[in-house]
Amino acid sequence: VDTVFLVILVWSVLRSVRGFMGGSRRNPGRRVRQDARSAGPSSTGGNTARDPVCGMFVSTEVSHRLSENGKVLHFCSEKCLHAYQKSAARAS
Ligand SMILES: [Zn+2]
Repeated sequence: VDTVFLVILVWSVLRSVRGFMGGSRRNPGRRVRQDARSAGPSSTGGNTARDPVCGMFVSTEVSHRLSENGKVLHFCSEKCLHAYQKSAARAS
């Protein structure tokens, strides 16, 4: 009886572990996002924000930030940041 219980225990543990790993591996396009760095959301696992200039998604950890009207904008590069500042200055 003890052996049967042990087998059931091991089986249920293995099943839950396999289900957990399969769940994270099932996501398609994950490898694609890793290749195209910062081209899509959730590539690094952290927060991402959309660059309002070029439209690409950037990790908020590595982005170039600009505070405007109490909200923070994230840019992929200094170039986009400057382009945004230039267009904002022109608009006002
Ligand atoms: Zn950009």
